[in-house]
Amino acid sequence: MCTGVWPVFQSLITQLKLISSYPALPNLMQAEIIAIGSELTCGSKLDTNSQWLSRELESLGWTVSRHTTLSDDMNAIVNEFRAAAGRARVVLITGGLGPTLDDITRDALAEAFRQPLVRDAESLQQIEALFVARGKVMPERNHRQADRPEKSQALPNSCGTAPGILMRVESSTGHSCLLAAMPGVPAEMRPMYERQIQPHLLDSSMVMCRRVIRTFGYGESEAERLLGDLTARGRNPEVGITASEAVISLWVTARATSKDAAEVMCEDTMRLIRECLGETVYAEGNAELHEVVAELLTNRRLRIGLMEGSTTGGLMALWMTEHLALSAVVQEARVITGRWNQSAITSADSNSHAVADASEWPAIAARVARDVLQNQSVDYLLLSSPHEDVASESGVTLRRGSVAIAGPDMFQIFDTTMSGNLAIFRQRAARTALNRLRLFLTAK
Ligand code: ATP
Repeated sequence: MCTGVWPVFQSLITQLKLISSYPALPNLMQAEIIAIGSELTCGSKLDTNSQWLSRELESLGWTVSRHTTLSDDMNAIVNEFRAAAGRARVVLITGGLGPTLDDITRDALAEAFRQPLVRDAESLQQIEALFVARGKVMPERNHRQADRPEKSQALPNSCGTAPGILMRVESSTGHSCLLAAMPGVPAEMRPMYERQIQPHLLDSSMVMCRRVIRTFGYGESEAERLLGDLTARGRNPEVGITASEAVISLWVTARATSKDAAEVMCEDTMRLIRECLGETVYAEGNAELHEVVAELLTNRRLRIGLMEGSTTGGLMALWMTEHLALSAVVQEARVITGRWNQSAITSADSNSHAVADASEWPAIAARVARDVLQNQSVDYLLLSSPHEDVASESGVTLRRGSVAIAGPDMFQIFDTTMSGNLAIFRQRAARTALNRLRLFLTAK
């Protein structure tokens, strides 16, 4: 953890060195994606092409700086083609290459870059052959699918009738930009990209390395504050923060001229992150917190019990039984509905139905834990209380609950009260209990 002045100073010096020695991200590497189709803008279809193409481009070292989705509106499309070619080195376009009058990508490319449309004889032949193979006569309106701007290249479509278009243009800002238009249908677009467009993009001159660090404990803004300049825009490696289900993930993306250099840069930044966020870092890669805890328990040949009130409502049991290797560390799991009563919980044949008050939970949980640890073969017990919703003065509903971990000569309790959604409250509470056990086990 970054505590004290000296480690902070050292970390600052290292960061400054890293920032100055690594190449800044060049604008040259920027790519944009344009998805065309009124079915996308009106919400009836989801634009999955841009996501897929972004991943492809990023894996080749390109930075995708913009996604644009446009309806079938000629003016808007023409303006966007010109603007994108002025900003980026690569512009990938999908959709609008069909035979109907609202498919205007070809016309818009010709108009945007002031070239006449020509009918590509080879494309026409291929489209005709496709109809013949299907035992049909080619309708007149399909002829226009063979049109392309004069100084462009047609890209044969192995899966459908719409050929793609590849063209290089000089932008108004003086650099050259490669534009590639592909059909909107994903099953046609993907092979066209892989076979005919990707080979033109391999000279991005950059290699990308991306890693992720998972943390639990800090909120998003607190993590960002602790990371300081590491999250600065334009830094290479770039550090992005995402929050999901109470887990904060730090995405480190390094770009360099070789794979080795990118990996070293990534590793340097990951080390700085680990120094700043300390014990909140629980994994690198995609591991979930409960998997990390299960591995710690397995390595130490330890077994746990779970006794969950409505604060986690069985969520820990759900996670820990996802597969056999996880379940193997769980000796027993129980979900206790309603309030807790010690004798009802610890002896199955108890007739006692006395209901304990919520404020009595810590004391009851401690006694239950002692009984369970004495009488059953579990090494640690994770517990959660019943939860209650309390309206605060400001009108916000607070969800009150606690979790506890118990082991030989140890019982620790943690408040997990928060406002907001029940599912997130439970995820955060379950992860708090698991994380406390992780910290306890790793400190030993
Ligand atoms: P084709 O002539 O092969 O249909 P096209 O270029 O004319 O090609 P569109 O008419 O724009 O393609 O879209 C056809 C279908 O492809 C859409 O109805 C939609 O289902 C799918 N599609 C289009 N664009 C996208 C996109 N960006 N993401 C996912 N699916 C898309």
